[in-house]
Amino acid sequence: MGQRLAVYCGSKLGHHPSYARAAEQLGHAMGQRGVGLVYGAADFGLMGVIADAVLAEAGDVIGVIPDLLIDAEGAHPGLSRLERVPSMHRRKQRMMELADGMIALPGGFGTFEELFEALTWAQLGLHQKPIALLNVHGYFDGLIQFLDDSVEAGFLAPSHRALLHSGSDPDLLLNALLPEPQC
Ligand code: AMP
Repeated sequence: MGQRLAVYCGSKLGHHPSYARAAEQLGHAMGQRGVGLVYGAADFGLMGVIADAVLAEAGDVIGVIPDLLIDAEGAHPGLSRLERVPSMHRRKQRMMELADGMIALPGGFGTFEELFEALTWAQLGLHQKPIALLNVHGYFDGLIQFLDDSVEAGFLAPSHRALLHSGSDPDLLLNALLPEPQC
């Protein structure tokens, strides 16, 4: 079985075109390397962009969606697999189970929540999967600064702060998170 990456990202596109460009670039890089996508199943916003890019490379895309959302808005029609789950909580858990690593792209509360749950669970030792931010167009600069301030203030252990990697280049970040197996 190939590797999979869970991608947390906006259900909106954001105002700057570089956000969608980065989602597209990451999706193509994943598809070309045979890294499957696990995500929230929508066909809009950055979520739709990354799913389309992985599918364009004939990559594997698993959407995980709670009943609540599928009834309201449906799911991307081209998914390799759609998993329905009973709740938002179960969705986050299932996305982490299916993935070998997690990346957050620009997004809003939904993205932040998913990212911080992955980090909290890593901090508690519930998984050892790598977690990163794709810091497109400086979007996460403020968050990165805030996390560093939290270490300074004594609320975040440096070893826990180090659980979150970041980078601005989709290819390099993918290499760092899921190194290709050495033959
Ligand atoms: P947001 O960052 O608030 O736009 O939320 C996007 C993230 O939360 C995605 O990674 C999804 O897994 C989840 N999510 C939030 N809202 C939706 C939605 N309307 N449809 C599908 N997934 C959503």
